Amino acid sequence: MSSVFTKIIQREIPSEIIYEQEDIIVIKDIHPQAKTHLLIIPKKEIETINHLEESDRNLIAEMFFVAKKVAKNLGIEQGYQLHFNVGEKGGQEVMHIHLHLLSNI
Ligand code: AMP
Repeated sequence: MSSVFTKIIQREIPSEIIYEQEDIIVIKDIHPQAKTHLLIIPKKEIETINHLEESDRNLIAEMFFVAKKVAKNLGIEQGYQLHFNVGEKGGQEVMHIHLHLLSNI
């Protein structure tokens, strides 16, 4: 079954899309934990960081470059947090990797 993020990517369910490129989408978190709370999501459905393969190396790096670009575009580049939750016991609810970007600027 597709993840909720794949459904967003495929426009099957609505979301506030902040940025999109061929391999990555950035959306607003539906339950924001900060003034700005975005999710940087690869379009490829990878369950957790533990499921990464060698061939995902560039994709993961690109997620950080997208974070940098979006932070600059939003004028929050002076201060933000980036984090991954990994696995249910690590607080991961959606089993499709995503990088949280949070800022209170
Ligand atoms: P995590 O706990 O790291 O898996 O984070 C999942 C995040 O996805 C949470 O912060 C949720 O608020 C967020 N989320 C879940 N469903 C949606 C949705 N439909 N649109 C936007 N964000 C969502």
